[in-house]
Amino acid sequence: MASTLIKNGRIVTAVDDYTADILIEDDRVSMIGRNLPAAGQARVYDAGGLLVLPGGVDVHTHLDWDFGVARTVDTFGTGTKAAAFGGTTTVVDFANQTRGEGLLPGIENWRRRAESACVDVGAHMIVLDVNRHSLAEMTTLIREGVTSFKLFTAYPGVLMVDDGALFKAMRVAGGSGAMICVHAENGPVIQVLVEEAVARGDTAPTHHALTRPSSMEGEATHRTIRLAELAATPLYVVHLSAAEALTAVTQARDQGLPVYAETCPHYLFLTVADYDRPGFEGAKYVMTPPLRNQAHQEALWRGLKTNDLQVVSTDHCPFCFNEQPYGMKFSKQQGRNDFSKIPNGAPGVETRLPLIFDGGVRQHGLSLNRFVELTSTAPARLFGLFPRKGTIAVGSDADIILFDPDETWTIRGSEGHSRVDYTMFEGRRGTGRVKKVFLRGQLVVDGTEWLGKEGMGEFLRRGASGRI
Ligand SMILES: [Zn+2]
Repeated sequence: MASTLIKNGRIVTAVDDYTADILIEDDRVSMIGRNLPAAGQARVYDAGGLLVLPGGVDVHTHLDWDFGVARTVDTFGTGTKAAAFGGTTTVVDFANQTRGEGLLPGIENWRRRAESACVDVGAHMIVLDVNRHSLAEMTTLIREGVTSFKLFTAYPGVLMVDDGALFKAMRVAGGSGAMICVHAENGPVIQVLVEEAVARGDTAPTHHALTRPSSMEGEATHRTIRLAELAATPLYVVHLSAAEALTAVTQARDQGLPVYAETCPHYLFLTVADYDRPGFEGAKYVMTPPLRNQAHQEALWRGLKTNDLQVVSTDHCPFCFNEQPYGMKFSKQQGRNDFSKIPNGAPGVETRLPLIFDGGVRQHGLSLNRFVELTSTAPARLFGLFPRKGTIAVGSDADIILFDPDETWTIRGSEGHSRVDYTMFEGRRGTGRVKKVFLRGQLVVDGTEWLGKEGMGEFLRRGASGRI
């Protein structure tokens, strides 16, 4: 394969910030230096005036996910194309066990669906049945590079496991180089509140938020941390939204425990007031945990600054607002008369980097290095992908984005590349735009032009998770 030279860019990683040229040979960075000769290189790009950043790493997506009551609308092909346009070149998605079946059939099914991926993909495994068989399969999966397992304390009867099952899975992970990811909300208590609200006739989207109090996220986060401490496993709290949960994570980290947490752009930019939008618009914002108020939002921004939160991922879980196309019968409309029937999830894989650059670097005082760390380096390190992913260095994959820190944008759902029919950030303006995206040295996004293709993404066998 021919070589590529990116000249004159300002290279920013989690720790560096300097101007240099990058030589890419095959699919990796082979040299970084000043005034590298352009003669003899097949392709030369001038990155003068642009930031040169490692490709984004999004460790929380649900592509082509069928969980019985609904199915997400993006295929791996469409979802990862949207990711690439947003500057994300690595996605770690959730494979899931089907109840009554093993973990291995779940990962085989996921790998078939993931064959259309346009960027590199890894898998976390969702565990629903914890028994001798599935615990043994965890060890097999870890050897195959699936080194993180997600369990739920929410959704009783559907996804939830009890504390004993969670503890058993944690002990296997802790002893085997894997990390447990947890969706931490108190499912049984929330179920009581939801049933009572529906019985009262409180069926509008705003009751989705009112029946999932932040204290029940805090309770489950605290409880899960204590279980992980006893089981001696690293723990990763997904989509943290509540100040109470952040307090639990902060205390654990102050104790020196290997506890980590991510938040998502929607918790940083949107609030519970979005559920009160006219008509049924609030349904667009129904995801779990729900959007919170301003005080929680400020706590999350503080956590990103102080490293009590380590990662920003998207929880891209797209359901159409109107009838889903492509022969799928599910959409947000199925909850029009009952908020508890609205599919839980929202899109966001394409807008993460521009939003966090604008809101974080420009408005909340995050450094450029911290921006890269939150969106690329830290997730790569936590999930066993570093230094192949998450940085720009000799020998690393040439996943590189050219980013214009001064170009303004307005988010329009109609311009997005996901198959979903809306964005939660419609009309939002900001500054800082992805201009070019290289995946392992190949230019896949050039402005608004798509040069990648379905199937070019590789499966990532990950190293140990949660050992940083
Ligand atoms: Zn999720």
